[in-house]
Amino acid sequence: MAQIINGKEVAMNVRKSLKTEVDLLRANGIIPKFAVIMVGDNSASKIYIKNKTNACNELGIECEEYILSETTNMEELLDLINSLNKRNEISGILLQSPIPKHLDIDKAFKAISPSKDVDGFNPENVGKLCLNQDCFISCTPNGVMKLLEEYKIDIEGKNAVVIGRSNIVGKPMLQCLLNKNATVTICHSKTKNLTEITKKADILVAAIGKPNFVTKDMVKEDAVVIDVGINRMEDGSICGDVDFKNVSDVCSYITPVPGGVGPMTVAMLMSNIVKAVKN
Ligand code: NDP
Repeated sequence: MAQIINGKEVAMNVRKSLKTEVDLLRANGIIPKFAVIMVGDNSASKIYIKNKTNACNELGIECEEYILSETTNMEELLDLINSLNKRNEISGILLQSPIPKHLDIDKAFKAISPSKDVDGFNPENVGKLCLNQDCFISCTPNGVMKLLEEYKIDIEGKNAVVIGRSNIVGKPMLQCLLNKNATVTICHSKTKNLTEITKKADILVAAIGKPNFVTKDMVKEDAVVIDVGINRMEDGSICGDVDFKNVSDVCSYITPVPGGVGPMTVAMLMSNIVKAVKN
């Protein structure tokens, strides 16, 4: 039976140590301030933003929320981003995705000043991650790396397989593992013989968005299995991309959903905001 990687506990510890850092900053008259932008009315985004602002409040990070209407045009969005870029007291800016289809999200991410890009989506930060330079790293992959570190899981020389190649999870996950000297394979919907590949993984990361996609037969014995997926089921429950019940019989470590990678995403965002303030 696999050891459960307790993301909730690790995230709590990260937040505790960040609180000490924020207290120190505030004692020196520096009030960390963060701006979050949402465009349109998306119920899931509202929950994510609430989680983020709650975490900010708990740590003593001030938060400005900008809720823009569905009909906002690109110029208005860029104007807001530029005005936030110019304000020195704002250390971090986050644009909650998705945004309405008529808007160009890549252009919007590019407009966020790289030094305030706490989500790590600006091309400058993406490029720096590829070059293994200091930068803001996308929060979910960064959270996965923190979990591996906390559980003292060896990465160097290991075969790591990432399923999913999105810009926010899969691709930065590949880079993070590669930067730690894993041999990384990235899979996607066009990958042939997926099981053959995943079976070779010492570390398997699932970021697909399909409930229970990774089954026991796809996992090597004693592999470390990280489930990034968050799938909302019809009964309102949340389920990961990994068939947790059966896969945990064969692997050595596994993240649960909920309580695995999810809490780490918010914790790493807080960590990036504190980093931005210090920068
Ligand atoms: P995307 O939909 O952007 O990407 C999904 C990826 O999975 C794509 O690269 C797609 O391939 C690949 N894929 C789809 N079907 C298959 C298949 N049959 N075989 C192999 N690969 C497949 O999702 P995200 O990366 O944004 O998110 C992935 C999951 O992680 C979601 O459940 C999301 O909710 C969750 N998530 C969780 C976070 C957290 O904090 N824990 C944060 C962000 C996301 P292709 O590129 O070819 O289409």
